[in-house]
Amino acid sequence: MPRIHQLPHNVITKIAAGEVIERPASVVKELLENSIDAGATRIDIDLDAGGTELIRVVDDGCGIDAEDLPLAFASHATSKLIDAEDLFRIATMGFRGEALASIGGVAQVILQSRPPSEASGAELRCDGGDLSAIRPWGGSSGTRIEVKHLFYNIPVRKKFLKSVATELGHVCETVTRLALGNPGLHMVLRHNGRLVYEIPGSATLPDRIGLFFGKDIRDALYPIASPRGQYQLHGYVADPKCDRGNAKLQYLFINGRWFRDGRLSYAFKDAYHNLLMTGRYPIGFLFLTVPPDEVDVNVHPTKSEVRFREHSVLYSLIRGVVKTQLLGENLVPRLKIPAVDFPSNYDTVPETSPRRERAENTVAPWERDSPQQHVPTPNTDFVPIRQSWQDVLPFPESAKTPQREQVESERQPVAVNPELPFALPSLPMGAALQVHDAYLVLETPDGMLVIDQHALHERILFEQLRRRIREGKLEVQRLLIPEPIDLPAEQAVAVLEAKEALAELGLEIEDFGGNTVLLSSYPTLLKRRAPHEILQAVIDYLVTKDRPPVKEVLLDHLLATMACKAAVKAGDPLTQDEIAHLLMLRQMAEDSTHCPHGRPTSLLFSRQELDRQFRRT
Ligand code: ADP
Ligand code: MG
Repeated sequence: MPRIHQLPHNVITKIAAGEVIERPASVVKELLENSIDAGATRIDIDLDAGGTELIRVVDDGCGIDAEDLPLAFASHATSKLIDAEDLFRIATMGFRGEALASIGGVAQVILQSRPPSEASGAELRCDGGDLSAIRPWGGSSGTRIEVKHLFYNIPVRKKFLKSVATELGHVCETVTRLALGNPGLHMVLRHNGRLVYEIPGSATLPDRIGLFFGKDIRDALYPIASPRGQYQLHGYVADPKCDRGNAKLQYLFINGRWFRDGRLSYAFKDAYHNLLMTGRYPIGFLFLTVPPDEVDVNVHPTKSEVRFREHSVLYSLIRGVVKTQLLGENLVPRLKIPAVDFPSNYDTVPETSPRRERAENTVAPWERDSPQQHVPTPNTDFVPIRQSWQDVLPFPESAKTPQREQVESERQPVAVNPELPFALPSLPMGAALQVHDAYLVLETPDGMLVIDQHALHERILFEQLRRRIREGKLEVQRLLIPEPIDLPAEQAVAVLEAKEALAELGLEIEDFGGNTVLLSSYPTLLKRRAPHEILQAVIDYLVTKDRPPVKEVLLDHLLATMACKAAVKAGDPLTQDEIAHLLMLRQMAEDSTHCPHGRPTSLLFSRQELDRQFRRT
């Protein structure tokens, strides 16, 4: 057995460098953070060959005293921390005192610096850990550091480096994060002598976002800001129309420091839950501010992960603030050939208002069990349907099926009821017709709105269920004889595990032994579909999807699943009565523009666009 021995210093440095310095971008990150900590207002970065041959960073910060230069390259030597207590009130980007030591161990470094108060500066070289003598240096105040031939003395690490383009890409990402996190900072990045980015100090956060990600995203940003408090959030989130196939354009910052956090990203994505299709990700730039002793930044060598005392508070903060902002925006997707303005805002109705309650308490035509129970739609003159749709757009004889004929024979022009039980907004609608048994077409002051009947009904049911559950007013229908449902073993386990959550949604289940469960109640609102179909949709969700970590979110997802199952489908012919009812509820919806799964419920063909397409203008 070999004897235990203390490792030589140069080996220790190389081991430490392995953690902190992975590629040129890691060097750039450490150097830029040092410049920011030094109070720099301008930083110039020059790279050759993606930074593999040369990285030069020049700042106008506080500089380093000549006699301190050797210490800057020493391991665990820092000016930013005095005792262990300080670790819990970190306000600087660096504090571990190992970056320059690591970089100096794996490259050839020239460090030149002059504090503004000194008449002249000094220079120190570090070649793979070996320090030169200190020499005078006559440069301008601030610090200038050159890192050449990265990993020249560790060929294995050098082999792991990727193409120049890839390494440059990583550096650009590093510069982006620091430029977003440090408003007011002037940054210039050049590669092989050519300008890559110049970010003036005066560039605002949206300007910076536009500079890095383009005008389309900059023009689609909504500002967010939480109320003042111990934990605060501000930043910008993009309209759901700018969604992406991955989460790369989600930038999280904590006290100005970029960091990664799967759960908080989930909270952000979840705020868009009803606005994005499955597999799509929103864009956002979120800046959290928390007291320094509430966050531990000393859990990761590159500090890209942090630990919070109150993780769940931040989760709710992000989800709540972003969601509230999005709900306030008019997100009707506009079918556009060139970009045109958004339609004017429709009147929205507060979540709890007598008007909403009365509207929702009317019985939807498809909820009526039998003619005896028929409750007339209370108000109809808000949709000035002047004739039945057949008169407007007759179907060809060949398209008539027995089912359609029966529906058509039941369709009646809707009578105007002068005794309005409640007032409705001045509605932006003309005649509504159903086409292809899937879409409703309406005239609006702005143009022509095409509504997806399934998506809209799904959204309405979702909101109705959610509101009633929140208010503790969910009506449930008890089954006289509980319905036994046989399931594959893993599904039976999954559904019984979620028993309590399901009970909150009005689905009461019991274990019947074996792989059978007994369903004894379901929400009355969903009685269009057989109870076991609703339950099966929920089970499919439980066994195929990752469970969201927060119960409230899980319930929302399950509600969306139930609403989708119970809603009218494309292919369901609707009577005028049913159309009128759907449109009435649309006006009451908190967000009538997207179904709970994020698909749009309507598209607007603007009058302007129609005129343009028909060459009228
Ligand atoms: P840390 O940033 O964790 O303190 P570093 O190894 O990155 O450790 O730097 C060591 C020390 O060198 C810093 O604490 C700081 O005092 C000094 N230093 C490094 N870069 C600069 C700079 N650009 N301007 C002023 N001081 C610097
Ligand atoms: Mg540092």
